[in-house]
Amino acid sequence: MICLTTTENTLTKALKQVENNKSYIDMVELRLDLLDEGELASAQIFPRLCALPTIATFRRVSDGGKSQLNDKSRMIKLREIVLQGDFSYVDIEEDVKKSDLKIKCDEESQRADFENELKLKGIKIIRSFHDMEKVPANLFALVTKLAKKGDIPKVAVTPNTIVDVVTLFRMNEELKDVKEKIIIGMGDFGVCTRILYKKIGSMLTFASENEIAPGQLSAKSLKLLYKADQVNNRTNIYGIIGNPVLHTASPKIHNPGFDAIHYNAIYVPFLVDKVRAFFKLAELIRIHGFSVTVPHKRDVLPYLGKITREVKQIGACNTVTRIQGMWKGTNTDYYGFLAPIEREISEGKIKSALVVGAGGAARAVVWALRNHHVKVTIANRTIEKAKLLASETMSNYIEIDNIPKLNENVDLVVQTTVIGMAPNEDEDILESLTFSKPCIVYDLVYKPRYTKLLKRAKEANCRIINGSDMLIAQGKLQFESFSGYHYPHWVNIEL
Ligand code: NAP
Repeated sequence: MICLTTTENTLTKALKQVENNKSYIDMVELRLDLLDEGELASAQIFPRLCALPTIATFRRVSDGGKSQLNDKSRMIKLREIVLQGDFSYVDIEEDVKKSDLKIKCDEESQRADFENELKLKGIKIIRSFHDMEKVPANLFALVTKLAKKGDIPKVAVTPNTIVDVVTLFRMNEELKDVKEKIIIGMGDFGVCTRILYKKIGSMLTFASENEIAPGQLSAKSLKLLYKADQVNNRTNIYGIIGNPVLHTASPKIHNPGFDAIHYNAIYVPFLVDKVRAFFKLAELIRIHGFSVTVPHKRDVLPYLGKITREVKQIGACNTVTRIQGMWKGTNTDYYGFLAPIEREISEGKIKSALVVGAGGAARAVVWALRNHHVKVTIANRTIEKAKLLASETMSNYIEIDNIPKLNENVDLVVQTTVIGMAPNEDEDILESLTFSKPCIVYDLVYKPRYTKLLKRAKEANCRIINGSDMLIAQGKLQFESFSGYHYPHWVNIEL
């Protein structure tokens, strides 16, 4: 189930949030602590108005909420609201004392047993535990203890490394007897657990319009992009590893492709600090293949049983697939780069190229050009790296300040540095170069789509190619390695 957490301060605005997301969600969490105080008096009508199973949550500050009330007063208020409304669940933190749940009412002489009242009304209790800093060592014992009371255990914890993520994925197997449980990995490392919530054994995942908890995704992307609620035992898992990785556009290539060919598969971003631990996770949850981005393109090499010629030459791998029990590494950056200039290359129209940069992407570019007999000159800020790549590939190299003033002797200019993308959108690393004749100008930056360099080249009647063309081309090749099918031509990729 996908559960929308309301983040508004009035009931009207919270209902609007539900309306906006209605086709993506199965239930709602009404965050009472975020509502203005005056709104609480009518909060009981919310479940009826939104017509979806609703959780009442009155979160205190120490657990990431806004309620400043002490536990006793908070439980009194929560009871007033919940018992008058049609809530399906109520969230009570696991350390709220029994005595705070025996509530003294004005008109009655005996204390009311709030837990019992909820049970009589058929409202399920979610007993929640939050750790905003880490994944505690006693997590499994904690869930077992909470479940023994007959309530639904909820743990929202913060993984700080991929090793913690492995712990969360182990919960499915270790706690399979606890049928109804909610497990959430917060923060950037936890994003993959929010998407693959069914694989960690969680009955639901939370979504919000404006990330009320760290790492929360929108209901729309969980439902439409990832189809997270359709994951089952037969779903093949793919993904991308990197650090950082959450900005990646690759899920927007692979997930719509899988969907279009009716392949039961999902493609998820995994923030990875330690590649070794990720391979453990890949075995644990049977990941079938993954893309690799900065800074892990070299780090994965020791774990691969088989590599292609390009990976060997470039010294970097961006695609890993599981083949006959072994990990195979390929490099689709190499072919993805060539795809938009395939015709010119095969017709021998590109004889010489200027490549700016000597990082991982430049290595794929230079090798691809050299293997097609193009004469290459490399310019890079750190001259030693340009020199090294030039000597490996039998190319020339020059200081970045010595880039020629005119493009007279080059058929292709390739920009492979980070200059041109945020936060360097206003910069043009080749500003000293004037396009005195039309040539092909290729910028690997894909966001923004048209860099300052490309705009200038277009004005000078050059053919321009942007990084999204390469990104899509390399992504489609990865898709073929992953699924065994050509990328469906009818999918309109929106990065
Ligand atoms: P990388 O290995 O870290 O290399 C970064 C390159 O940028 C190096 O040449 C580096 O020069 C240069 N650089 C960094 N900061 C600079 C600055 N302030 N001034 C001048 N040069 C600077 O990264 P990468 O993997 O090669 O990626 C580079 C770019 O290509 C990124 O924008 C990435 O998004 C893009 N890319 C696009 C695709 C695609 O499919 N479109 C695929 C791969 C990469 P030094 O050697 O002097 O540090």
